[in-house]
Amino acid sequence: MYKGIAVSPGVVVGVAYCLDGPLGQSEVRKLPDEAAIPEELERFDRALRLAAEDLDLIVAKVAVQIGGEESDIFRSHLQILRDPSLLAKVHEGIKGARLTAPSALQAVLKEYASVFARSGQELFQERMADLRDVFARITAHLDASPAVDPALAGLGSDEPIVLVTHEILPSQAISLGEMPIAGIVTEVGGGTSHAAILSRSRGIPAVSGAAGIIGQARTGDQIVIDGRDGIVVLRPDAEMLVAYRKMQRDFFELKDRLVINRDQPACLSDGTLVELLANVNTVADAATASGVGASGVGLYRTEYLFLTHPDVPDEEEQYENYRKVVEAAPDRTATIRTLDLGGDKTVPYLGRQHEANPFMGWRSIRLSFEHPKFFEVQIRAILRAARHGKVSILFPMITTLEELRHVNRLVDEARRNLKRAGIPYGEDVKTGVMIEVPAAALCIEALLQETDFISIGSNDLIQYLVAADRDNPKVAHLCDPLSPAVLRMLRMVFDACRRTGTPVTLCGEMAGQPRSVLVLLGLGLRRFSMSPAFVPTIKTLLSSVSTPQAERFTHQVLQLKTRDEIRRYLTERLHEISKDLELFDFT
Ligand code: PEP
Ligand code: MG
Repeated sequence: MYKGIAVSPGVVVGVAYCLDGPLGQSEVRKLPDEAAIPEELERFDRALRLAAEDLDLIVAKVAVQIGGEESDIFRSHLQILRDPSLLAKVHEGIKGARLTAPSALQAVLKEYASVFARSGQELFQERMADLRDVFARITAHLDASPAVDPALAGLGSDEPIVLVTHEILPSQAISLGEMPIAGIVTEVGGGTSHAAILSRSRGIPAVSGAAGIIGQARTGDQIVIDGRDGIVVLRPDAEMLVAYRKMQRDFFELKDRLVINRDQPACLSDGTLVELLANVNTVADAATASGVGASGVGLYRTEYLFLTHPDVPDEEEQYENYRKVVEAAPDRTATIRTLDLGGDKTVPYLGRQHEANPFMGWRSIRLSFEHPKFFEVQIRAILRAARHGKVSILFPMITTLEELRHVNRLVDEARRNLKRAGIPYGEDVKTGVMIEVPAAALCIEALLQETDFISIGSNDLIQYLVAADRDNPKVAHLCDPLSPAVLRMLRMVFDACRRTGTPVTLCGEMAGQPRSVLVLLGLGLRRFSMSPAFVPTIKTLLSSVSTPQAERFTHQVLQLKTRDEIRRYLTERLHEISKDLELFDFT
């Protein structure tokens, strides 16, 4: 049994599918016989050719759209790809050891890793990142279907598949999203990691921080995940199995039952209306948001478009994508966030420098500011897509008033340029900032004078407030939305919004957690944006609590001094309100 972090609620009993590393399959695969070798060599050579064609295109595109220096990164990838020794080593693996092309490639990557490991830490990391990128590109051309699929089929079981992996990279998150996975366990990553966000957006149970599980689990093992308590059980005994299967049935029955409230308004038991919006990463998520009864998209994380795009999406591609999200969004209402790359999400063409503290470094709006041409293209594409619905633009990680003024100027300039060029765009686009850096929260009064709305990114706000990496399981207990400091900071921001009449949404993960929602309601929040899967649960919760009740709870909570006391108090209140909904609480 493993105790990790509960990142997405629910129980699943299934079979493990073990992946290790970004290139997927850890198990070495061999060709059936000698006769398969020539075809495998041809398959590899073709993948290499296609990967080189991709890179030629990217070098040209990046040079025009971003700059010559950035395109050098891809020139270096071409060099890696054209290195005759790479070709020779992979051919040798296929011919000599009769490996499949992906396994031969994996073996070469391991060999390079050990060579680089001897040549100094920093250089090693940067070079390995480039190598992984190149190898992943080749691998993508080796398989028409993603790497995980054949093995999934090979499991030969009707049981749900539980993915067990060290970590999920941003670029993998979307392709995994399309696979028949019923649960996710990772060794690293916290409650707001990509794996967490992915599993929540699909409504599947997940646990992260299950350290050491990769060494123990084998593909095909029976496995249980309890995503509410962060428990993973490998090869459970018969009694456990019976108990967990019952919990699994209860969970899914309740989930089906709850979604019936899809067409009902979201309101408290005294009739107070609340807006429940959805956080989405893809067009498909936006459609899901409509299906579960969200009233709009409260956060579209555009970086996933960039992370999964084979090269750089240009203005037309971005416009098309944003338009589709707007059209699929409930009531055609969407808040589109500009790029929030950096930290743990990187694309090589925007520069990949080794940073000691990537989350405190060159990420998000800071990165956009340094690529003004690129940033303007994104703003133009959003403004153009805004003709197709009610669209707002949201700027992540604003820290100072100067930054806010700068983005406001850039939006005005983009509007003027579109007008001058006679390109149609949405006239009534509101702009807002994410409050996710404590410095911005502390100076909230000044920011509210110059923005249309704000959205609180509690995932980041909390990690920066308590100085604890949101993706590090070792310090996850500090990243607790139900801690006195977090609640005080939120109260300060909500009070300022009330005084100035500024619309405020909270779009971090706490917006979908029942106990947190109770407090947020009492603090006066009326707009929540969450993973679509949570909308039915939260809507049910709202109907079971009144405004005075929530205010009473919050008043009590603010008297308490520790997170444990706060959690205990809210757990009791939630239990009184609805035992059913406890099944959906997590972290
Ligand atoms: C947040 O920080 O709370 C947020 C919603 O943004 P992200 O999780 O994408 O950083
Ligand atoms: Mg954030």
